Amino acid sequence: MTVDSSRVRLITGDITQLAVDAIVNAANRSLLGGGGVDGAIHRAAGPALLAECRDLGGCETGEAKITRGYRLPAPYVIHTVGPIWQGGGMGEPALLAACYRNSLQLAVAYGVRAIAFPAISCGVYGYPFEEAASIAVREIERFLADEDRIATVYLVCFSEDVRQAYAQALEKP
Ligand code: ADP
Repeated sequence: MTVDSSRVRLITGDITQLAVDAIVNAANRSLLGGGGVDGAIHRAAGPALLAECRDLGGCETGEAKITRGYRLPAPYVIHTVGPIWQGGGMGEPALLAACYRNSLQLAVAYGVRAIAFPAISCGVYGYPFEEAASIAVREIERFLADEDRIATVYLVCFSEDVRQAYAQALEKP
């Protein structure tokens, strides 16, 4: 893959603080908030985010929907629903890949140039970090290879384990 490695960057910290064009939320199908990164995003964005989400009618696993960012530094939030890990035989890899692709497609449609992803499904949803990281990196690099309107994708690492998994996935040829 011939993607300039500086277009995919690891960053450690809290995704809600990032001044990018869009942050991605690892939401649940209701889109009405939850724990983990979802809760953090809703707390930081304020109640107007929940009000907009109520009108969206939920979101299927693997799909993505966009809202404004309200009090966040990022003007947009792209909500995607990762698969719950059930051992890997229930379509989880394809669904997780779809989360990345559909989020990036929505980002392009809204003129987003810099986007930040959390490690979708790697919290409560239990996806093993290594597998999730290699899917994330593969899908993002494939997408960027054909799409130069997205300048930079940040992979936000909330823990050292996740950071290591991404670093390994990025090193693979
Ligand atoms: P899921 O239900 O998709 O597993 P979680 O929110 O439980 O979603 O976890 C997804 C990932 O987001 C985990 O790696 C978790 O450590 C990380 N995370 C939690 N809070 C934040 C935050 N504020 N910024 C960035 N990443 C976060």
